[in-house]
Amino acid sequence: MAVLEGLKPEKVFQYFEAICQIPHGSGNTKELSDWLAAFAQERGLECHQDELNDIIIIKEASAGYEAADPVIIQGHMDMVCDKVADCEKDMASEGLDVAIDGDNIYAVGTTLGGDDGIAVAFMLAILDDDSLQHPRVECVFTVDEETGLYGAEAIDVAPLKGTRFLNLDSEDEGIATVGCAGGVTGIAHLPVSRESYDGKAFTVELSGFLGGHSGTEIIKGQENAIRVLGRLMFELQDKAAARIVAIDGGVADNVIPVSAKATFISPDGEKVKAICDEYRGIFEHEFKVDPGFTMTLSETTAEAVPFDAVSGQKAIAYLIGSPNGIEKMTVGIDGLPQTSLSLGVLRTQESEVVYTFCIRSAVDSECEMLARRLQCQIEALGGTLDREGPYPGWEYNPVSPLRDLVCEVYKDQTGKDMVVEAIHAGLECGFFAGKMPGLDCVSIGPDVRDVHTPNETLSISSARRTWELVVEVLARMKP
Ligand SMILES: [Zn+2]
Repeated sequence: MAVLEGLKPEKVFQYFEAICQIPHGSGNTKELSDWLAAFAQERGLECHQDELNDIIIIKEASAGYEAADPVIIQGHMDMVCDKVADCEKDMASEGLDVAIDGDNIYAVGTTLGGDDGIAVAFMLAILDDDSLQHPRVECVFTVDEETGLYGAEAIDVAPLKGTRFLNLDSEDEGIATVGCAGGVTGIAHLPVSRESYDGKAFTVELSGFLGGHSGTEIIKGQENAIRVLGRLMFELQDKAAARIVAIDGGVADNVIPVSAKATFISPDGEKVKAICDEYRGIFEHEFKVDPGFTMTLSETTAEAVPFDAVSGQKAIAYLIGSPNGIEKMTVGIDGLPQTSLSLGVLRTQESEVVYTFCIRSAVDSECEMLARRLQCQIEALGGTLDREGPYPGWEYNPVSPLRDLVCEVYKDQTGKDMVVEAIHAGLECGFFAGKMPGLDCVSIGPDVRDVHTPNETLSISSARRTWELVVEVLARMKP
């Protein structure tokens, strides 16, 4: 017997459990995509499936809604696969073990994929229910959101006639998301020359910084460990004639670095120790948001030949002189960065230093502005800037009839005001807003907790309320 049998709304949970039986981790969506195509075919619904496995299924308006503008509903079909250490399930080929604990649905030992399987279940329940009232609904099931929004980026929106777009990938009931940042990765390459140099070799390591997501958490004002190290290395070059052998830090472009490390040679070991002690004190005084940081200086035996003096100066000039952090805040939404960048990764190779920046903005031209600033500085130093994967932002729109409708229905149903937010990170809505000028977008969803972890839970009551909200929003689209 189905585990979720009897839960209401029945079709939603029936479809949710059905898709949990089909493996659908990011990059492994063919089976689910084909299953969705078969669903459409069985019901005689218009269906478009692309090579990536994105699917669009269209259902015409119910009686009396023929004159209403079509509405697009969207969610992603892929999920993050993760499991506890002793779980033996092969998530690439086996379904999930769905279970219930009080108001929560979870999967034993693994992620549940409530993010964003609940959206898939909602769309199927809508497409499968002829008793609902709605305009023409265009349901969009994208792939590979979790690994880089690839489905939304590639999908052809030609079959879509809707001017309103309801994304179901939010994880907090009662919050409507109405804007997101676009972005681009900037990769600066600075050539360096090396020459032999006499002195003692040292390693200095900074660690224990707060870090965090370079979009949603940059508002905290935390230090960037790589840039702090750059500041220290400037002093060591300037006052202790240090020559850098290697300077590295960070793990990913979208994570604020928590540690960084430099190896260098200096003829004056006493001076090196004195400068490190002095700056440890200065940093301890300054870094109120990163009280846990540590600085460790140790002597080492460096085999490598260090940068020559000019290369070292250029490497540090770019490190401490390039823009970093929040560039501009959003007008109209308190506390929301509009434009920012974060140096996420620094790597030293034999003949170059590579700096990787994550640039974000809700305003595409401001992303471009920051990329151009990085380019103009690195070119002046003799280097080059590469760009990767620009993706569009979704700018907050002060006028949004769909947002007003969602808020009105939510208030009528719960007595509470819906919270309206925008986020400083990428969402699939950005791609659709970019491809379909004038699109009126809102993102909502039921409570899903601990997403992307084996502790993930989906609230049954929240899913029910969110379903009732969606159904009523569609019904009030009567022309
Ligand atoms: Zn998601």
